[in-house]
Amino acid sequence: MFSTDSEIKNIEIEYYQIPLAEVLTDAMHGDHTHFELILCRVRCQDGFEGVGYTYTGGRGGRAIYSLLKDELTPFMLGQNASRIEYLNEQMNLHLHYVGRGGLVSFAVSAVDIALWDIRCKRLNQPLWCVAGGANNKTKAYAGGIDLNFSKEKLLNNIKNYLAQGFNAVKIKVGHADYRIDIERIAAVRELIGPDVKFMIDANYSLTIDQAIMLANAVQQYDITWFEEPTIPDDYLGYARIADNTDIPIAMGENLHTIYEFGYAIAQSKLSFLQPDASNIGGITTWLRVANLAQANNLTVCSHGMHELHVSLMASQSNAGYLEVHSFPIDKYTTCPIKLDQGLAVAPMSAGHGVEFDMDLLTPHRITL
Ligand SMILES: [Mg+2]
Repeated sequence: MFSTDSEIKNIEIEYYQIPLAEVLTDAMHGDHTHFELILCRVRCQDGFEGVGYTYTGGRGGRAIYSLLKDELTPFMLGQNASRIEYLNEQMNLHLHYVGRGGLVSFAVSAVDIALWDIRCKRLNQPLWCVAGGANNKTKAYAGGIDLNFSKEKLLNNIKNYLAQGFNAVKIKVGHADYRIDIERIAAVRELIGPDVKFMIDANYSLTIDQAIMLANAVQQYDITWFEEPTIPDDYLGYARIADNTDIPIAMGENLHTIYEFGYAIAQSKLSFLQPDASNIGGITTWLRVANLAQANNLTVCSHGMHELHVSLMASQSNAGYLEVHSFPIDKYTTCPIKLDQGLAVAPMSAGHGVEFDMDLLTPHRITL
């Protein structure tokens, strides 16, 4: 018999729209003016509380809120919060007919992350210890959303990243005229010198032939990875790109189930996997992808929500680079991301270490 102490007694869902300091643009999603944050607070019978969350680039958040409020909340009340892996599967099965990834994975993520927060608090351990314990620090890069920046602004932005202590940077590509991408890549490499890692990200905007052409044109600039060159659904297309360029290929932010990662690993000739715990089904599924990566001799990286992923990345021995994303969720927490000699440092507090600052967040809450 389980103790009833862990029984879930209360779940609250909150929806926020948080404006960005400036408009951020990439090749496929257009202009970002704000991001959405959906919080899931879970409280157990014995008073332990966890906070989970997911986010979007500005669209779809109300539907995720509804899935959490109207479907997963009644399903989860009364469940034993310590059965996280089991409940993760049960949530997916509960909504399988309308799910199999997509929005349902975002909603499941928020609940799962709250349950991991509770698990770590009960153990009185930080997430990086509970999730694997490899280290409390991880390599990191600054991920710019900068396609609309002038070349001068782009270079100033990169200088700012270096001044903050980053030794790895990523820029967006995918201009209608690919010669503009080449010019910007050359300028950034010249600015950062040979020792700073440099990645590019097309947000799946290119055809396979365009991606191969761009990759081969910029290979001389020592690109660590080419991220989402084409639509992520085309697993075999990724393999064609990998077969025709020497730049390693990365993707994962748009894969929303463990099965999709399985297909991508089997078919796409990826070098870097980039699961996002906010849309893959939470920490449970993120760790399953990390294990899948290890079993296939691949590196696991992360996309978005760096304030949480810092602990997951640090915990794994096959971790690549943490993305420090341009959506500053961490600025609304009590522990913004910290770098130590280029490495991002995971929180040491019990739980997942992401504590929202409600004074900062509350003005952006929208009641649905
Ligand atoms: Mg990306």
